[in-house]
Amino acid sequence: MTRTVYVNGQYLPETEATVSIFDRGFLMADGVYEVTSVLNGKLIDFGGHVARLQRSLDELEMDNPLSADEWLAVHRELVALNNVTEGMVYLQVTRGNPGDRDFAWGPGVAPTVVLFTQAKAGLADNPQAKIGLRVISIPDIRWGRRDIKTVQLLYPSMGKMMAKKAGVDDAWFTEDGHVTEGTSNNAYIVKGNKIITRPLSSDILHGITRAAVLRFAKEAQFEIEERLFTVEEAQAADEAFITSASAFVMPVVELDGASIGTGKPGKVAARMREIYLDEMNKAAV
Ligand code: PMP
Repeated sequence: MTRTVYVNGQYLPETEATVSIFDRGFLMADGVYEVTSVLNGKLIDFGGHVARLQRSLDELEMDNPLSADEWLAVHRELVALNNVTEGMVYLQVTRGNPGDRDFAWGPGVAPTVVLFTQAKAGLADNPQAKIGLRVISIPDIRWGRRDIKTVQLLYPSMGKMMAKKAGVDDAWFTEDGHVTEGTSNNAYIVKGNKIITRPLSSDILHGITRAAVLRFAKEAQFEIEERLFTVEEAQAADEAFITSASAFVMPVVELDGASIGTGKPGKVAARMREIYLDEMNKAAV
C-alpha cells in the first residue's frame, strides 16, 4: 500500500515525497523527531509530544514551523488519509537545506518538515507484554544531550543490533556502573511497592510515557524513587519494565542472562500497562 505522507505543507504519495541531499538532517543529523501512537484512530498523549517537540527545537535554537493546533491537524489528516486505526505517526523537523554543506548554520533557511504513518496491529494487545523482554547491558557512549530528541540514532540502532546478535530483545545502556535507559525507552525496576527509575537530566530522554506512568503510579499509591540503579540491583529486583510511546509499559524479565524476579512479567508492570492504556485511551484525541 502506498502511504500518503506529509512534506513541507504537502500531502503526497510516499513515492513522490523528496528531501534535498543538502538537508542538514541528512548530512548532519541536525533534526528532531517525535513518535505518537494511534489507538482506535486517535492520538495518544498528543499534548506531551508537541510540548517536548517545542523543547527539543528550543534547545537547538530552531523555530517551530507549526503551531500546536497545526501539528494536531496534520497528524489527524494523515491518520485519516491512511486509515490508521492502530500504529504511529512519525514527525521530523530538520534545520533544512542551506543549499550546500557547511558545519555552521545561518538564518533564513526554512526547516524541513516530514510526517508519515506506520500502521501496526497489536500495539495495545501486544503478545510481548505477556512474555516480557530479555535485555543485555551495553556501555552508553552516546553524546551528552540525550534529553534532546534528535535523529542521531546510530548508537541506539547499533545497540538493537548487538541485542539481536546476542539473541535477546533489546539493550539497556549503562554509564559509570548505572543504567541510563533502553535503546529507545526508559528503564525501571520494582522493589516491593517501590518503582525506581533514573531522575531526569541530560543523561536520558524525558519520556512522555515516563511522565504519564509516574503520575498514574503515584495515584495508584506506588512509591516512586527517582534515583540511579545498577545492573546488579536490577537483576536482584522483583520486577523490571520499560516505557515508550509505542511499547507503553513492557515488562523486562531478563538482564544479561539473569532472570529478574520470577522470570515472568510482573504484577506491577501489568497493572501499570493496564492503567496507562485505560487512561490514555480516555484522553486520546
Ligand atoms: N529514551 C529513548 C532513548 C528513546 O528513544 C525513547 C523513545 N523515543 C524513550 C526513552 C521513551 O520516550 P517516550 O515515552 O516519549 O516515547
